[in-house]
Amino acid sequence: MLPSEAFPATRFDNSYARLPERFFAQLPPTPVAAPRLIRLNDGLARELGLSPEALKTPEGVAVLAGNRIPEGGEPLAMAYAGHQFGNFVPQLGDGRAVLLGEVIDRQGRRRDIQLKGSGPTPFSRRGDGRAALGPVLREYIVSEAMAALGIPTTRTLAAVESGETVRRETPLPGAVLTRVAASHIRVGTFQYFSARGDNEGLRLLADHTIARLYPDAMEAPNRYRAFLTCVIARQADLIVQWLLAGFIHGVMNTDNMAVSGETIDYGPCAFMDAYHPGTVFSSIDHQGRYAYANQPRMAQWNLARLAETLLPLLADDKDAALAEAQSAIDAFGPRFQAAYDTGFCRKLGLSRTEGEDIALAEDLLTRMADNGADFTLTFRLLCDAAVDPAGDAALRRQFTEPATYDDWAARWRARLTQQGAAPDAVRAQMRAVNPLFIPRNHRVEEAIAAAVNGHDFTPFETLLTVLAAPYDEQPGREAYAQPPRPDQMVHTTFCGT
Ligand code: AMP
Ligand code: MG
Repeated sequence: MLPSEAFPATRFDNSYARLPERFFAQLPPTPVAAPRLIRLNDGLARELGLSPEALKTPEGVAVLAGNRIPEGGEPLAMAYAGHQFGNFVPQLGDGRAVLLGEVIDRQGRRRDIQLKGSGPTPFSRRGDGRAALGPVLREYIVSEAMAALGIPTTRTLAAVESGETVRRETPLPGAVLTRVAASHIRVGTFQYFSARGDNEGLRLLADHTIARLYPDAMEAPNRYRAFLTCVIARQADLIVQWLLAGFIHGVMNTDNMAVSGETIDYGPCAFMDAYHPGTVFSSIDHQGRYAYANQPRMAQWNLARLAETLLPLLADDKDAALAEAQSAIDAFGPRFQAAYDTGFCRKLGLSRTEGEDIALAEDLLTRMADNGADFTLTFRLLCDAAVDPAGDAALRRQFTEPATYDDWAARWRARLTQQGAAPDAVRAQMRAVNPLFIPRNHRVEEAIAAAVNGHDFTPFETLLTVLAAPYDEQPGREAYAQPPRPDQMVHTTFCGT
């Protein structure tokens, strides 16, 4: 352990490392052969109070590769359990990641700094503890795109090539990703202690999580109930944002759901091109468990698993605890629906949800699904059509049967007229919630292929630049807004393992 200019010791304050030993395994990352920085997220580094220049020096890159532990860092692999596709696994844990420590950022927020792909840990089971370059680039692109869209997410501080080969179906270049999160505590972390009947551990974890992520709950008469309510509300809001952006997580297992309400663990995730509620991308999700439109139901299922773990803390009496848990879970549906309805109406330029608005929105989605309309482009084109019916021509082309749009548009226009807001204001408001640029899967794959096959990171860099301003027109970048041609379509994405 050496002093580091990239990560000064004074920046660290590692609250998770102060929890009892059974919460984690302490161990350093395993060094890699030949680290090379692919990209540093300068803006995020500054947000964290770190120097991008220092992080780009060989000493800084050594820290980001796991080859050097900065003084003040206390590397550890977190223990957790989880339901994977409905099956409970009592011990998962960080099998290929270590938490370096926590830093307090410039706004006073505590942020985890985690290396992913950092070598084997006691939780690795049969895995090699490493990450391949492709999935690292995917996580970098999609997590940063999510952040730019305004959707809560873990962030990516850096990607480093390891100079080593990882063996998957084929040999692949290896990489390490530095992930930044409000915390890496998952629903599965609570399940880990619950499955062991470790009520003391559970209470310590809950108290730690409340103090860190939900301090307001400390004032409540029943802080654990308040905590559960807050987690459920944040998760409901998060899933609404996913649906409004056309995002499909792909592996919403309870170990991949952070109690902070941030999107975490970008594996076989993707944004939809053509709208269809049943869209699935994950190569391992054969049943469509985590299909686009199933995500609210699965989130609520996961939250019910969290609620179960909290039963011993919710009340001394079993029935009373069960009643508290049930009423907290029951709040998910209405919370989700209200936020979804409001959000959807905003996408249509309606600042208030009235009468037939929900039916109008649902009708559009049905017509889009039946006609293969592109999700992102349709809503973006509606921004212009709200001002000028000349915009209809482009919209009609989104529908295999263009008349189906005309029919809907007539009713939508009548509703906009009745609302009476200035058209320019409506368009501006709509553009602020309907992005032009999302990380389209074919672009992500193109960037990964160039990097992995040709060691060319230019498409990756360009894509990141475009996605940093998803709501802005970007002259010369129009092609990035386009859906894939049939020959560019990507139907499945694979896990990052
Ligand atoms: P994931 O599917 O990435 O959410 O991972 C599920 C579990 O498998 C977690 O406990 C991971 O730490 C572990 N895991 C995934 N990939 C690897 C790997 N290459 N080596 C060791 N553990 C892994
Ligand atoms: Mg995971």
